[in-house]
Amino acid sequence: MKKINVLDDNTINKIAAGEVIERPSSIVKELIENSIDANARNITIEIKDGGKNYIRITDDGDGIYKDDIQLAFLRHSTSKISKSEDLLKVHSLGFRGEALASISSISMVELISKTIDEETGIMVEIHGGILQQESEVGSPKGTTIIVRNIFYNTPVRKKFLRSDSAESANITNIINKLALSNTDISFNYIKDNKNMIKTPGNGDLKSTIFSIYGKEHTESLISINYSSDLFSINGYISKPLFNRGNRNYELFFVNGRYVNSKLLSKAIEEAYKTLITINRYPVVYLYIKVDPKNIDVNVHPSKVEIRFNDDLKLIPKVTDIVKNRLFEFNLVPNITLEN
Ligand code: ADP
Ligand code: MG
Repeated sequence: MKKINVLDDNTINKIAAGEVIERPSSIVKELIENSIDANARNITIEIKDGGKNYIRITDDGDGIYKDDIQLAFLRHSTSKISKSEDLLKVHSLGFRGEALASISSISMVELISKTIDEETGIMVEIHGGILQQESEVGSPKGTTIIVRNIFYNTPVRKKFLRSDSAESANITNIINKLALSNTDISFNYIKDNKNMIKTPGNGDLKSTIFSIYGKEHTESLISINYSSDLFSINGYISKPLFNRGNRNYELFFVNGRYVNSKLLSKAIEEAYKTLITINRYPVVYLYIKVDPKNIDVNVHPSKVEIRFNDDLKLIPKVTDIVKNRLFEFNLVPNITLEN
């Protein structure tokens, strides 16, 4: 017979980290979401070696009080909700209080933070869930977190990491989506000492797209603006000649958050059906606003799949709107048959 053990907190955090933190890009996502929740206007993200050995996120947000700094790293500790009723009205991206506990249990973390109310900042260093040091430091308002040596203490998981370029590509993808969902925040992304992206943070979608994807991309876009009692749809679609070999540029945002939806992809592709050859895909950035009671978001930490209430008839409407817009631009060929 085996004796039953109660696991210690550090072991529990390592197990939980398996769910929240799959790869370096999951860390980048969690940390940027924390900066957004802290009302940052500017977020700088620096990574090296696909994020495996170095991720640094700096923001100018609210910061963390000195007295709270160690709490921030405890599992299920969060400033975003305090009781179960709050779950029904959370507006923040995080609320589970798991990210910092998980990340710091599988890497070496240094965090520096200062609030507007305090004279000096605070620095903590935590390796594998164990506090190494805590001291007062000079710091501007905001938070900087540096994550080094991911999975250094879980070698099996470290082996599952992919090449530096594959992990970097995942990180770039996450940053693009977060920047496109938050056009009023300036994102500055530095990869292996090279400046990759700096978004304007001026709330304008087109100049944000320009700063990420460049001139040719931006010039091929047609605006979409639609609203009814049930939902509104704004954003851009590409002229059919500007298409891509994969669906990575079919981006959907619902109520401000990036979502995956095979049905929305199908709705768009239906509109372009006769205009783009097989295995090529349009570029779209669609921002949908709808009463939250009409959507069902799978709330698993890493899932972004979404479902819409069928009564909205949103999917066929998307096809119609896109088709009409392409038609207005004379991009739908007008085939006349000879008698
Ligand atoms: P959650 O985001 O679910 O609350 P986290 O583990 O990601 O949990 O963060 C724990 C807490 O640490 C947050 O609730 C917040 O109070 C604080 N925090 C984390 N990152 C930042 C940041 N960049 N700026 C200000 N506060 C932060
Ligand atoms: Mg969080």
